[in-house]
Amino acid sequence: MMAQDVLCEVRNCQHWAEGNQCQADQIFVVSHHGKHAGRQEETDCNTFKPKV
Ligand code: SF4
Repeated sequence: MMAQDVLCEVRNCQHWAEGNQCQADQIFVVSHHGKHAGRQEETDCNTFKPKV
């Protein structure tokens, strides 16, 4: 099942909305080390866009 509600605390992203809601149609999460991650710290949202 696809994620329905993506919660995110990164307030300075253009997709961020009140209530820690991500408003992007989809997000792309990437690993720092190719296609595997050992810990949550090794992943990032690649859809992040800084507010201007
Ligand atoms: S795109 Fe990524 S960083 Fe931006 S609000 Fe959504 S989950 Fe957070």
